[in-house]
Order: sequence, then C-alpha cells, then structure tokens
Amino acid sequence: MQNQSDFPTPYYLIDETKLARNMALIDQVQRESGAKCLLALKCFATWPVFELMSQTMAGTTSSSLYEVKLGRDKFPGETHAYSVAWSEQEMAEVLANSDKIIFNSLSQLARFEQQSRGHNRGLRVNPKVSSSSFSLADPARPFSRLGESDPDKIAAVIHQISGFMFHNNCENGDFPLFSQMLAHIEQTYGELLHQVEWVSLGGGIHFTGEGYPIADFCARLKQFADTYGVQVYLEPGEAAITNTASLEVSVLDVVENDKTLAIVDSSIEAHMLDLLIYRLDAKLPATGSVPVMVCGKSCLAGDIFGEFQFAEKPNVGDRLSIQDVAGYTMVKKNWFNGVSMPAIVVQRLNGKRERVQAFNYQDYLAGFGNQ
Ligand SMILES: *Cc1c(COP(=O)(O)O)cnc(C)c1O
Repeated sequence: MQNQSDFPTPYYLIDETKLARNMALIDQVQRESGAKCLLALKCFATWPVFELMSQTMAGTTSSSLYEVKLGRDKFPGETHAYSVAWSEQEMAEVLANSDKIIFNSLSQLARFEQQSRGHNRGLRVNPKVSSSSFSLADPARPFSRLGESDPDKIAAVIHQISGFMFHNNCENGDFPLFSQMLAHIEQTYGELLHQVEWVSLGGGIHFTGEGYPIADFCARLKQFADTYGVQVYLEPGEAAITNTASLEVSVLDVVENDKTLAIVDSSIEAHMLDLLIYRLDAKLPATGSVPVMVCGKSCLAGDIFGEFQFAEKPNVGDRLSIQDVAGYTMVKKNWFNGVSMPAIVVQRLNGKRERVQAFNYQDYLAGFGNQ
C-alpha cells in the first residue's frame, strides 16, 4: 500500500471520516429501532474499509456466491446469502459460508429443500409495490422475477422457512411513502408475518440523507417488529456509503465546439457506468458561471460526465473531484453483484478449444483491494 498525499489520477478516494458519519446514523437506527443493518455488498464491496463499517453494521447480505464468501471472509458478523438463482454446484459452498439463506422463488426453495434443511431459511416476497422511478431498477415491474407474491402459495411452505425478505424501496428518501408501502405489506402478508422469526425490509431506504426523520423511522420499525414478534433487518447499500467517496481525475485537454469541453483521464463507461445506464450527470460542485462540459477519454461519443459551472475555464493538468461515487460505481468496474466473469475460450483453426483466461474468487477479491 502506498502512503502519500497525492497519487496519479484517476483514483477513487474513500473518506473514512465521511463513512464514520453514516455509521453513526446507522448506529442510532439500530439502537432506537432494534433493527440490524447488513451491508448490501452489490452496492459496495471495497473491503479495505470493512473494518470500520463492521464496528457498527451487523454483517452483510449478498447477491451471489462470491459476495457470500466476501462477506464471510472480510466482514465480521452475520452473513445472509441471497441470489436470484442458485446453481447446484454452488449450494454447498453457499451453505457453508452463510448464517441464513434466502431463496428467491418457491421452485428454488423446493429444489434445495433437502440440501438446505437445518439451515436458517428465508423467502423473498415481492409485494408488487415499489418506490422506483426507473423500470430497469424496479423490483415490482410487470413480469418481475424478483420474489414470490401469492400469500396462499407462500403459506403452503411456511413451515420450511423462518423469515422473509422484502426489497421494494429504491433511493427512497420519502418516509411517508416507506411507511405506506410497509402498511401494504402488513395488510397483504400480516398472517404470514406472525409465523416467522425475522423479516428483512431490504435496502433502498435513504435514512442517512439530510433531514430524514430518523425518529419516526425508528418508531415505525419498532412498531412493526413488536406487532409480529420479529427481528427486523435492513440491507442498506447506498445509504451506508452515500457521499463518502470521490473520483479524482485530471484534465488532459480543453477543446471548443460551440461549448468548452474538458477531456479528463477517465470515462463514464469504464469508471462510472451507472451514469450511462441511468442517463444521469456526475456530481461536481458548481463553483462559478463558466459552463464546461466534462468528457471522458474513451472514444464513445456520449462519454460525458455532464455540464458544470466552473469558476474559470479549466487548464490542462487541473484536478477535478467527482462526488459521491461509492455506491454502484466501484463495483461496476467489473464483477457487478459478484457475478463470476465469463472465461475466455478460443476455438483454434484446428478445431481445438483452448481456455485462455479464467477467473476465480481470488480475482474478484483482488478487484477491490490487496492490502
Ligand atoms: C440492491 C439491494 C439492496 C441494496 O439497495 P440500496 O438501494 O443500495 O440500499 C438490498 N437488498 C437487496 C435484496 C437488493 O437487491
């Protein structure tokens, strides 16, 4: 590990002081509501800061075998294993490395019922309401594959499980909306909730945001836990790491084409993929009145961070600090959800197939740190 105050750009800069602020809010929520907070690794998997986070958070939740193993290896506390679909060959390792396993469907529960017997098991329930404004990220979208919905079908397997996972909030900073959707869950699944020991309400609740009514939120969670006699879990991803990291870049060139364009040593496709997928602008503090379009150095024509008001025209060599890049950003250089990278196989001219590259869990780990 290098230890100097300035590194060559580009680099992501994670600020532990800012992380500690979020952890203090999570600590407050855990104490006042009784809920346990698990970090959703699909949002943020940079394990060299897990020591700090694990002093507050109760463990991790996952979306793949690699995330289960990362949680077990690098984050003390509980390890929840969830995936949209487990495969036969990974089940033994998932069970060996997790405290709870959450199945996404009744068919997966049935398929692994024998093998997972004796393990603490849960089922994902899809309440068919969500706070998402992007269809791409909406778990309640039509034809959603994310969880079971029919209370009668769930009742038929209730003796096989001891918990439920609901994840239907998405970037939701609106407490009344959260509470209203929880009431819908209570109305639809109330009888079933009385029969389980734990309920995870998933992620997507932005309770660490400025001005969020934490006391009301805690009271609502506590009321829910008391009504059904359950341990509540939350699975914050974004809320845990919001506003804790920046992407440090340098200006490589400044050109004019009806607008002033600053080309930096980064690329949204390579380093901030969510901007491209969700058509969002990067966050750069506006400091003046000179409009500058900040562009990436890839040859993708639309590789643009956004247009920002600079104090003055930028110069080659200037440093820019793009804000709030921890969530869904560092994990998207590769390995999103911990989904294993495909190997690369070449079929040679003689018809023989040769595997020229294969990836494993160690490669996944190394993508986020090596100290
Ligand atoms: C994505 C996800 C989370 C984390 O969501 P955030 O919006 O980052 O808080 C938690 N649980 C599940 C099941 C998820 O799919």
